[in-house]
Amino acid sequence: MAEFVYANAEREMEVYGYDGVVKSHCRMCHGGCGVLVYTRNGKVAKIAGDPDCPINHGTLCSKGLASAQLAYHPDRLTYPVRRIGPKGSGRWERVSWDEALDAIAEKISGYKTAFGPESVVMGYGTGRENEAVIYRFANLLGTPNVLTAGHFCYGPRIATGIITCGTNPIADYENNPKCIMVWGNNVTISNPDCYKGEAFSTSVERGAKLIAVDPRMTRIAARADIWLPLRPGTDAALALGMLHVIVNERLYDAEFVENHVHGWAPFVERVNQYPPGKVEEITWVPEEKIREAARLFATTKPACIQWGVAIEQQVNCADNDRLLMFLMGLTGNIDAPGGQVLFDPPKIRNVGHFGAHRLLPEAQKQKRLGGDRFRLAGQFAIINPKCVWDAILTEKPYPVKMLFFISSNPLMTRGNAREVYRALEAVEFMAVSDFFLTPTAELADIVLPAATWLEMDYIGDFWKRHGYILPRRKVVQVGECRSDH
Ligand code: SF4
Repeated sequence: MAEFVYANAEREMEVYGYDGVVKSHCRMCHGGCGVLVYTRNGKVAKIAGDPDCPINHGTLCSKGLASAQLAYHPDRLTYPVRRIGPKGSGRWERVSWDEALDAIAEKISGYKTAFGPESVVMGYGTGRENEAVIYRFANLLGTPNVLTAGHFCYGPRIATGIITCGTNPIADYENNPKCIMVWGNNVTISNPDCYKGEAFSTSVERGAKLIAVDPRMTRIAARADIWLPLRPGTDAALALGMLHVIVNERLYDAEFVENHVHGWAPFVERVNQYPPGKVEEITWVPEEKIREAARLFATTKPACIQWGVAIEQQVNCADNDRLLMFLMGLTGNIDAPGGQVLFDPPKIRNVGHFGAHRLLPEAQKQKRLGGDRFRLAGQFAIINPKCVWDAILTEKPYPVKMLFFISSNPLMTRGNAREVYRALEAVEFMAVSDFFLTPTAELADIVLPAATWLEMDYIGDFWKRHGYILPRRKVVQVGECRSDH
């Protein structure tokens, strides 16, 4: 296979005049697709899928294919800048990396001495490969405050997965599911954590039955055997309705219930409060469709649920997640090939080793903002952003003086933009590392130019459950951009 790839690569180079090709992996989403990056005159000329990669088998999505457009975008920030006018004035001066890093380091040291390390809040977006470094930095500094997107993206699934069945159950496409229930997910477009759309599409093409749970007629819903267009926010009721059918028609895996379920009687009592007729009123999904979907999912083996963060961006997200795990478990599809598998992550030191702040002294851990109110989230070092804005604006429970955002644009991505704006305007010092002068960066004191995946060496694992560790090679240097590491 390797010879085939390089034979093709050589032909590509000859025909199109490329002068180099680098084998690497993409990181335009959470990452993982193997790529061949072709270069001409020291620049990226084309990116193609690597047929040798066991994750994407030569396919790439539009984001991966467009990576060079991001790297060479004319608006990209390519050197460090310092703000010289009022916040939001758009007046910047170019500074050297040394000047920028010295200014940031001086502020961090000053606030640490005067107000304690917890007065410095680190932040990142849906980073995945810089997060271990950021947590490690926070641990060494001594701050328990790392602001992430985790509270409304995937974090609830990880947390409830651990307390419900030990870990996050992943759809096992490698072992041919015969039925796939896609719940609040557009996997062929979004290629989310742990999943690539290619594996899903291959399973459907092999004949897997498809159930789509989505208020919208997505492409996936259009090709589904059963489409359940639920009223937004009623996922838990729909899952309870399906469980009602599975329990009362005795379609569940009795052996699993006998050996692995705690609290069966109160569970059945709760499920019986949601007969499909009542669930139709709540969800607007016809009762008969709910029965049909429940029967198809419970009687087609193996079956898996492809779940999306749409179910986690709701106030009852932990319940949504647990109910989907109940559907997986009661139908005998947890820890089952072609169902939902419990992978061992690769043996690499990743965010799991640093993210929970295990290395922080207990007294510092206790200072995590919102730690007393959001205890499950606190187990994963996730803090609610509002606690940070409140601490900046009210100095309670203690003052937050500095924000350091790396690949994060909270002004655009967190709830209540007015409040976020007030907090970012009020904070004494803010440093940002990003590709562009984003709306958040416009309010910063120092902005650092971040490197794209094409501009760094790296070992990727992304704590995905596919179990692969992926090498990345630096292909080009753009301006003075540097990796977050
Ligand atoms: S799915 Fe993600 S890793 Fe794969 S090509 Fe698209 S952006 Fe890149």
